[in-house]
Amino acid sequence: MDKDGIIKLVNAQAEKLFEYERENLLSQSINLLIVDNNKGSEVDRGKLFFKLSQTHRLILNIHGRKKNGHEFPIEINFSPLQTETESLVSVAIRDISERKYIKELERKNKELEQFVYIASHDLQEPLNTITSFISLIEEEHKDKLDKEGSAYIDYIRESANRMAMLITDILEYSRIGRKSQFEIMDCNEIVAQVIHDMNATLVETNAKITYGKLPAIRGYPIEIRLLFQNLISNAVKFQKKNVSPDIKISAFEENEFWHFTVKDNGIGIDEKHKDKIFIIFQRLHNLRKYDGTGIGLAHCKKIIELHHGKIWVESVEHEGSTFHFTLSKMEENL
Ligand code: ADP
Repeated sequence: MDKDGIIKLVNAQAEKLFEYERENLLSQSINLLIVDNNKGSEVDRGKLFFKLSQTHRLILNIHGRKKNGHEFPIEINFSPLQTETESLVSVAIRDISERKYIKELERKNKELEQFVYIASHDLQEPLNTITSFISLIEEEHKDKLDKEGSAYIDYIRESANRMAMLITDILEYSRIGRKSQFEIMDCNEIVAQVIHDMNATLVETNAKITYGKLPAIRGYPIEIRLLFQNLISNAVKFQKKNVSPDIKISAFEENEFWHFTVKDNGIGIDEKHKDKIFIIFQRLHNLRKYDGTGIGLAHCKKIIELHHGKIWVESVEHEGSTFHFTLSKMEENL
C-alpha cells in the first residue's frame, strides 16, 4: 500500500486468502481487507509507520475480511518498500486462525486442569469428615447398633473409601505432566523396575513377562513409568480363569516413532469398547470380578498425548489384547 493505505500491488496468495480478483483490490483502501478492532484505523497506523519508518507487526484484535464477509484472525507485518518512484509499505498478512485456536484450546485445558485439581482437593475435606465420624460411631456407639445398622455403616465406609480412591485418582490425573522434566531414559530399566515392584502379584498369579530389547527414549520419566505400570498391571489383572498371564513387551522403529506393544493372553476386549476404555472412569466389568477405578488407561492416553504419540488396542475377545503406543524419537517434538 502507499502512505494513504491504498493498495498498489497484490500477489496471488492475497487473492486466494481474501477470495478477491486482483483488479478488484487495486486502488482500494486496505480497510477493505482488514477489520481493526484497535483504536485508530489501519490507514492511520500505516501513516504512523511511515513516520517511524521501521518494520512492525500487529497481532492483537485484527481480523481479515474475505469478499464474502467472513472474518478471520490475522497477523500483519509492515515493512518499508522503496520503489524507483515512491515509498510504499509492504503488508504481509498471515491467517492465524489455527494458531489462535490451539492457544485457546491450551488455555481451556489449563483452566480445566486447575478446576479439576481444586474441585477434587476440596472434595477430600468433607469426605475426611465422613470417614472420621464413621470411625467415631463404630468406636463409641457400636453396642447401640443392631446388625442392620452395622451393615449400613459398613456400606457407608466402603463407599467413602471408594470415593477417596476416585478423588486421589482425579488429583493424580490432573497432575500428569506438571513440574516434570523430560529426560533420556532406558525403557529396559523402566520395565525391569516395574516388574520388580510388582513381584508379589506376579508370583501370586504365576505371570510371565518377557521383553525384547527396548529403546532409550526421551520423555517424562515419572509418566513413562506410570504408563508401563498401568499397561502391565492391566495385562496381569484381566486374565482368564485358571490361565497364567503371559505378557510380551516389544518395540520397533517406525519412521520418526518408536512403536511399542504390550501383548497379553487375557480376557480380551470387545471391538465396540475399544475406544471407551481410554475414557476416565470407564470400566467394562463389575468391581467384584476385577478391582480398579477405571483411570489407568485414561492416564496412559494423557501421558502418550503429552509425548505427542498415539495409543490404541487390538484385541480378540477371550484370546487376549495388544496395547500399542508410539513415542516420538525426536526431542523437538516434545
Ligand atoms: P481399571 O483397570 O482401573 O479398571 P483402566 O482404565 O486401566 O481401569 O481400564 C479400563 C477398562 O479397560 C478395564 O476396566 C477393563 O475392562 C479394560 N481393560 C484394560 N486393560 C485390559 C486388558 N489388558 N485386557 C482386557 N481388558 C482390559
